[in-house]
Amino acid sequence: MTQIKNIGLYTSGGDAPGMNAAIRAVVRSALYYDIEVTGILRGYEGMVRNDMFKMNRKSVSNIVQRGGTILKTARCDAFRTPEGRKLAYDNLKKNNIDALVAIGGDGTFTGAKIFGHEYDIPIVGLPGTIDNDLMGTDFTIGYDTAINTVVNAVDKIRDTAESHDRLFIVEVMGRDSGLIALRTGIAAGAEAILIPENKNGMAGLLDRLENGRKDKTSRIVIAAEGDDAGGAFEIGRIVTERFPHYDTRVSILGHIQRGGKPTCMDRVLASRVGVAAVEALRDGHRNEMIGVIHNEISYTPFEHAIKHDHEISNNFLKIVEILSL
Ligand code: ATP
Repeated sequence: MTQIKNIGLYTSGGDAPGMNAAIRAVVRSALYYDIEVTGILRGYEGMVRNDMFKMNRKSVSNIVQRGGTILKTARCDAFRTPEGRKLAYDNLKKNNIDALVAIGGDGTFTGAKIFGHEYDIPIVGLPGTIDNDLMGTDFTIGYDTAINTVVNAVDKIRDTAESHDRLFIVEVMGRDSGLIALRTGIAAGAEAILIPENKNGMAGLLDRLENGRKDKTSRIVIAAEGDDAGGAFEIGRIVTERFPHYDTRVSILGHIQRGGKPTCMDRVLASRVGVAAVEALRDGHRNEMIGVIHNEISYTPFEHAIKHDHEISNNFLKIVEILSL
């Protein structure tokens, strides 16, 4: 058992629904084990600027259901430099922080990995990103809420698409990863899905429009931001050029995908990994991300968690093809 007295807790990178549930879980379980918690505002920015405060049981009351993050988040360039990280470490020492829990995505864990190798401070991470693009966990905190937000929005777009006989290109988040597009495309009954991992997405869509059933009056296409065609407006332009008889529209869902009340799945995931993070620090874990794989808590070194080799299941793309007959 490692004697930890004061955990520094921060959220960093893009916000994700369920981060507050994770904050609550870390604070309450630390207090349960007689460990103090210091909240660090705006991630690495607050570490570098010494923007921290003591947290207690009440600082996390009534937040389990709230989107965003009460600790705020930011991107911090100073932390990318050795001088910035030295400042951060000195501020942690000033506040008697002897361990860290980081909630964020791959950038957050890249920073944590470098920091944990430079300085002797145990750090564990919780996967908080709507992108679900981390290794070492089946799902990340925020993903389930984000995909449900997308599906609800696309259902609404479908109503108007159907009424006006339109073809809609709906852009969802995912510059480097099609994981949001893939699941929501299936759930929303998309005609086609364009994702960064598939370089034949645009060609496949054109083929489908050329050779597929002609009697459909409305169609929904889901495109991740990093699709192979260069964005939803470019897809719209190409489709309109080739098929001028389609009444084509583009809809960018944007930041609504990051907000809102976390779903039950996200709250439970956040609560489980939050408790497990505090227990992991007590058990001597460091430089690891805590996730859930096959319903069991898992521990993955930061350098493996941030590897971008999440495989896109061809099976998922096949399902879209079969079901959009
Ligand atoms: P999301 O996946 O939701 O965007 P993220 O955690 O990947 O979240 P980033 O903006 O990539 O978000 O990273 C968050 C912060 O982590 C950066 O602003 C920076 O302070 C720190 N960070 C990222 N990469 C490094 C690095 N190579 N060295 C030091 N710090 C880094």
